[in-house]
Amino acid sequence: MYDKNNVFAKILRGEIPNKTVYSDDNVLAFYDVAPRAKVHVLVIPRGEYTDIFDFTQNAPADVQVAFWCGVRNTVEKLGLRDNFRTVANTGRGAGQSVMHFHVHIMSDERFIEDF
Ligand code: AMP
Repeated sequence: MYDKNNVFAKILRGEIPNKTVYSDDNVLAFYDVAPRAKVHVLVIPRGEYTDIFDFTQNAPADVQVAFWCGVRNTVEKLGLRDNFRTVANTGRGAGQSVMHFHVHIMSDERFIEDF
């Protein structure tokens, strides 16, 4: 069940500050407070969805499309067209610590050497 007091809900309500990268009617993208890559940004939908399962099952199709457009717009704004990762940790066991659906966008020159 969605907890309205999770940290991203507070950010969306303006109760906690954030460093916004991109914002529109459907998404908010902001810098991760504890970056684990040279560029580390989080993209969240404005609606109340706990994780990718909840989002893809319960968000209307137009909201889902708008979310991924927001991810794309964020990547373009960051100038990361061809060197970034997207990650959506799902469940505590996989490291999800904030139960409001979010996608990590991470970029680091080391990625080229990883593969
Ligand atoms: P996850 O572990 O996949 O749930 O990712 C949650 C992310 O939120 C972590 O990378 C945290 O560093 C980040 N985070 C937690 N609180 C804040 C905050 N107030 N502002 C920005 N990022 C945050």
